[in-house]
Amino acid sequence: MQERNISQGNFEQCQKCSLCETVCPVMANNPAYAGPKRSGPDGERYRLKNGIFFDDSLKYCLNCKRCEVACPSGVRIADLIQQARIDFEHKAPKLRDMMLASTDQVGPLASAFAPIANFALGLKPVKGLLDVTIGVDRHRTLPKYASGTFVQWFRKNAAAAQQAYPRQISYFHGCYANFNYPQLGKDFVAVMNAFGIGVNLMDERCCGVAKIANGMIPAAMRDARHNVEVFRDSVAAGRDIVTVSTSCTMTILEEYPELLKVDNSDVMGHISLVEPYLYKLIASGAVKPVWKEGWKARVAYHAPCHQERMGLSIFTLELLRMIPGLVLVELESNCCGIAGTYGFKKENYEVSQKIGKPLFDSIAAAAPDFVACECETCKWQIEMSTGVPVKNPVSILAEALDLEKTEYLF
Ligand code: SF4
Ligand code: SF4
Repeated sequence: MQERNISQGNFEQCQKCSLCETVCPVMANNPAYAGPKRSGPDGERYRLKNGIFFDDSLKYCLNCKRCEVACPSGVRIADLIQQARIDFEHKAPKLRDMMLASTDQVGPLASAFAPIANFALGLKPVKGLLDVTIGVDRHRTLPKYASGTFVQWFRKNAAAAQQAYPRQISYFHGCYANFNYPQLGKDFVAVMNAFGIGVNLMDERCCGVAKIANGMIPAAMRDARHNVEVFRDSVAAGRDIVTVSTSCTMTILEEYPELLKVDNSDVMGHISLVEPYLYKLIASGAVKPVWKEGWKARVAYHAPCHQERMGLSIFTLELLRMIPGLVLVELESNCCGIAGTYGFKKENYEVSQKIGKPLFDSIAAAAPDFVACECETCKWQIEMSTGVPVKNPVSILAEALDLEKTEYLF
């Protein structure tokens, strides 16, 4: 029997209540998927006896972790499924999957030729070609790349001023802020500086979330080991690490030790998503935010699945509630359906859109000026499917705060 690596193998705690099945967005929309209970704890019992019981339909799991949030017994269902895929799916990743997952390889190239790349990837014939040749669905709007990366902007425009601030942090910006949307990184720096905090960059690599999802485990492990080393250097220099992307954060905190077996126990207490970090500064009285007069917006908040798994949506909601001109509509919890690279794939596109439909309908009913959401891939899915713009809460703060008048007391 093949040796299994299942530190999270608490499948015996399953009491067969089937609650996980009621929340699984794939089970509700794809009859080919057996669902969390049968793919997770039930299947694990068989797989432990013999790997021939591995079921190829596990590839349909989005790894949204909604089943884990629902499970009353704390079974790490999605981890069981992902671990089984790591152990038994021994096919080499397809060219398409490698392209979608290698954000840190594709990003520099696409960014260097951004106007051409964006123009070409928006053309119907090019999308049709990608559909028939490598299987990226033709209906998907492909993310745009920025001309010039966030890191280039930071070095040129912001790095020299950072040491003047009384507190210092390291910023894990991730691939999206660097290659696709540097404005998010600029907003992060502006808000941190207004709060009296200097921003430092690390020699970070991609968090690995897309590599894990696409079976590129050795590459994800290498990146994870590298990242944990640079986190250690940051902590040794007295700087905590602040992140912005929910999926990067969940991967670094939870998937590194559980799936990639990269020990992060000595640094994980020093890593925080930006919303809880900012909320605690304000709640403790260390920062007194001053809001722009006359700033107004009707905002619908969508909690990304991984944000819900980490239990951190409450901090975003509390921050948004502090903004005087902001009318907040809390959307019912629903998966948007894209799940990183999942919804880009031709075989998943239809299910991805079906999963997202309740969310799209609730956004239309809320009629917001824009949606607030911490996840970049949710942003792509919502903007493409509803036409409503999506802003990261950090960017909303950067807009609504009077950055000059905001005070810090340390
Ligand atoms: S992680 Fe999401 S898609 Fe996968 S089994 Fe759980 S609820 Fe279903
Ligand atoms: S919710 Fe948890 S305990 Fe209930 S069937 Fe699913 S895995 Fe088992």
